[in-house]
Amino acid sequence: HQAKRAGGGAVAFYERGASEARERLSLTSRLRRAIDSDELRLHFQPIYRVDDGVLVAVEALVRWQDPEHGLVPPAGFIAVAEETGLIEGIGAWVVEALCRQASRWAQEGFRPRLCFNLSPRQLRQPDLVASIAQTIARHDLPPGQFCAELTESAVLSDERRDSSLLDELHEAGLAIAIDDFGSGHSSLARLRDLPVQVLKVDRSFLRRVPEDPGSTAIVAAVLELGTALGMTTVVEGVEDVAQLELLRQHGAPLAQGFLLGRPVPADQLDRRPARVPT
Ligand code: C2E
Ligand code: MG
Ligand code: MG
Ligand code: MG
Repeated sequence: HQAKRAGGGAVAFYERGASEARERLSLTSRLRRAIDSDELRLHFQPIYRVDDGVLVAVEALVRWQDPEHGLVPPAGFIAVAEETGLIEGIGAWVVEALCRQASRWAQEGFRPRLCFNLSPRQLRQPDLVASIAQTIARHDLPPGQFCAELTESAVLSDERRDSSLLDELHEAGLAIAIDDFGSGHSSLARLRDLPVQVLKVDRSFLRRVPEDPGSTAIVAAVLELGTALGMTTVVEGVEDVAQLELLRQHGAPLAQGFLLGRPVPADQLDRRPARVPT
């Protein structure tokens, strides 16, 4: 009886494994098609100066308008895109779409800093920086308007990994941000030695601010670290007025979050200064 149960379990496990593999395969082929048939979309989330509420930057965030499942957030496909290598095509599409939008905005006199995300697999793509730089040049945009966001774990965790990609991005004129800062195991010494201009404080720290003194102390310390290293700090995940008030008190330069503005398609982006209830 016992053995039978175990056997049944194994079969169930096998079937689950097989159906997961099938699902994955179908996701992969639908995602491959998505890139070619124009199903990707860019949304833009505003980033504001804390002291006067001026919109100074936007972060481009990819979505997939799947005919079957509707608008899919990155959590639904970026990991698979990384594993299958499809992220390279998605990444190229993102930069192209960002440049197209930025050109339209520039014609209207709107020139925010343009932030986009790079995931770990993209960092291993040998022609990554050349292809980004070419796209930017083709659209006649200044590379200095762009900021590449790389997660802390992708760049800071491995002491031995060489930093040539960051140097290349830097030499091409782009700013570099460490995304989700504080969420991984990073070496501060390494941070000091890399050509990084922006720290984006992981939103997990803000979750319990201001009630939790420990979280508040960490946010304050990261803000001071940014200042001491001559970097600009963006605090992510600002969802309520009390959090924003705390950031003001601690002299945070820039903030991003649902309180101030959600990611939206370009035509819905409100470019006016943030008006926050006090
Ligand atoms: P991220 O780069 O840290 O982007 C910020 C994420 O936090 C976005 O989620 C944004 O919608 C969300 N967010 C912003 N403000 C708040 C807030 O106040 N509260 C909460 N709860 N969330 C907030 P999204 O768009 O789902 O993107 C998730 C992640 O997917 C991004 O995290 C980034 O790592 C990745 N991603 C997005 N677009 C791209 C892309 O074009 N390429 C690559 N490689 N990765 C991307
Ligand atoms: Mg980001
Ligand atoms: Mg982030
Ligand atoms: Mg994140």
